[in-house]
Amino acid sequence: MRQKIVAGNWKMNLSYDEALQLANNINQIESDSEVQIVVFPTAIYAHSCLKIAGNYNVGLQNAYPKDSGAFTGEVSMKQLKDTGFSHVLIGHSERREYFNESNSFLKEKVDAAINHDVKAFFCCGEPLEIRENGTYFDYVKTQLNESLFHLSASDFVKTVIAYEPIWAIGTGKTASIDQAEEMHKAIRSWIEEKYSQEIAENYSILYGGSCNPSNAKALFACPNVDGGLIGGAALKIDHFSVLVAKDTWTI
Ligand code: PEP
Repeated sequence: MRQKIVAGNWKMNLSYDEALQLANNINQIESDSEVQIVVFPTAIYAHSCLKIAGNYNVGLQNAYPKDSGAFTGEVSMKQLKDTGFSHVLIGHSERREYFNESNSFLKEKVDAAINHDVKAFFCCGEPLEIRENGTYFDYVKTQLNESLFHLSASDFVKTVIAYEPIWAIGTGKTASIDQAEEMHKAIRSWIEEKYSQEIAENYSILYGGSCNPSNAKALFACPNVDGGLIGGAALKIDHFSVLVAKDTWTI
């Protein structure tokens, strides 16, 4: 059985008070109990949110692969784990684009997450020009090959993939149901090729990119979509609560 997951990426949004309010409100949500909720608050708010979180997990949006040392401004995967966090985002397109994070550097982060028993949500996805020139399968497969598929089967199953076409992130332009399902199906087939049918069948693959209350039900109904990584719609409790509600997950 694949785990259904709705994860909120708050990015660098909200005031401290707003973040705590949202963290409190998520505790009140009546969700489909089969859906696991994870939130990734802004780093400086995250520990306060962790203390508030009752029925959901809290992670960081980023962590550094080295355990300690002279890396001003960074937080290590080890420190993340020591502080009580269980999850981390790796390879979000904004980190790849604005902070020049390469596939090989992301591989180091994946290894650090595994070493410290932190659940990595690994983001992949193509920019618009790659979508338009038709090479998006190769592009995403390369991201996975170079950062994630080196893991042993027993480590790989501890991760989650979030497919986030960059042209759909924060743009209000969602991938069509066919586009999302086609890529998720391809990712699952590569997992099967690399690992096994059983692992592929049981592995959670999330969709991200302008997922919101009006399109979530159709996206989550796709056979190979196991939930979402949500940006904008995760910042408003009335939107986020719809994404985890039983009705959204009932086909
Ligand atoms: C994201 O940044 O991971 C994301 C999916 O953002 P949005 O939902 O706002 O497109």
